[in-house]
Amino acid sequence: MAPRIQRPRSRRMMSLNVQTSERISPHFMSVTLGGDDVRHLERSGYDQSGRLFFADPDDDDVFLPSSERWILQLTLQGSKRRPRVRTYTIRRFRPESLAFDIEISLHESDGSLRPAAPGTRWARAIEPGTKVAFLDEGYSYAPAPGAAWQLLVGDESALPAVLAILEGSAALPAEVFLEVPAREDIREDVAVPPGTTIHWLPRRDPSAIPGVLALEAVRQAQLPDGRCYAWTAGESSLATGVRRHLVDERQIPKSDISFRGYFSHGRASL
Ligand SMILES: Cc1cc2nc3c(=O)[nH]c(=O)nc-3n(C[C@H](O)[C@H](O)[C@H](O)COP(=O)(O)OP(=O)(O)OC[C@H]3O[C@@H](n4cnc5c(N)ncnc54)[C@H](O)[C@@H]3O)c2cc1C
Repeated sequence: MAPRIQRPRSRRMMSLNVQTSERISPHFMSVTLGGDDVRHLERSGYDQSGRLFFADPDDDDVFLPSSERWILQLTLQGSKRRPRVRTYTIRRFRPESLAFDIEISLHESDGSLRPAAPGTRWARAIEPGTKVAFLDEGYSYAPAPGAAWQLLVGDESALPAVLAILEGSAALPAEVFLEVPAREDIREDVAVPPGTTIHWLPRRDPSAIPGVLALEAVRQAQLPDGRCYAWTAGESSLATGVRRHLVDERQIPKSDISFRGYFSHGRASL
């Protein structure tokens, strides 16, 4: 069985500041978080992620946790002082400046049918100096020994993880299926292992549920021969649908597949 989530061996709640933020495409904001506490961040897997604790932009009386026992700390606060918490991937480490980047998908810009989600709202409003807390939550990418190639499938929530995996896993050619909200979100300058093909899948319908396009593309794809390690993440029906397809239709052993729902359509993260 492929290891599921590898939890950090040790971790500390980090108090950090926003250093910079940049809109890198219509639906993505890159944010650099930094501070002395980054010394305590141990680099582990390529899709390493963490919980980000932050205040709503208009709220200046929020308590940011200082301990790994954050649930207890937050329970002791009144509900008005509790921060928002969302999970994001560490897209890029910047050890020389005690910092790292995350990339946040901005997902309410569909004609604003949906009220802005706190993660998106925060990313749009932040300024240099904005305070946050961040707690390492580990990784799941763990290629099966003996894999000849890898299949990576995700929607926009998993794009930062897929790009980090591609940059890190130089030895394993990849077939990549990446669904993005719009054609303008396609990245041109991606570093990939030799023998890799990226199938970019921009949505045409802004009201389409993320992940449907990518799942269908994988179902229809002609994939290479040889033993494959598959990693898939994104909207939960995408992750579970890809796994089911690979196991039932392509006879890939469950032990060679890592899958993880990053969010559920229609439900706010906790
Ligand atoms: C291990 C892990 C790593 C992750 N890494 C990243 C990352 O690097 N970058 C990133 O952007 N996200 C990442 N996510 C996903 C992110 O945590 C969720 O998308 C989260 O719900 C965003 O919070 P929010 O406040 O914007 O929306 P919420 O308040 O949680 O949700 C509001 C509404 O928006 C919908 N929604 C949530 N996220 C999306 C989305 N991305 N696209 C379309 N609709 C959405 C929900 O279904 C809900 O209806 C990761 C999740 C996990 C578990």
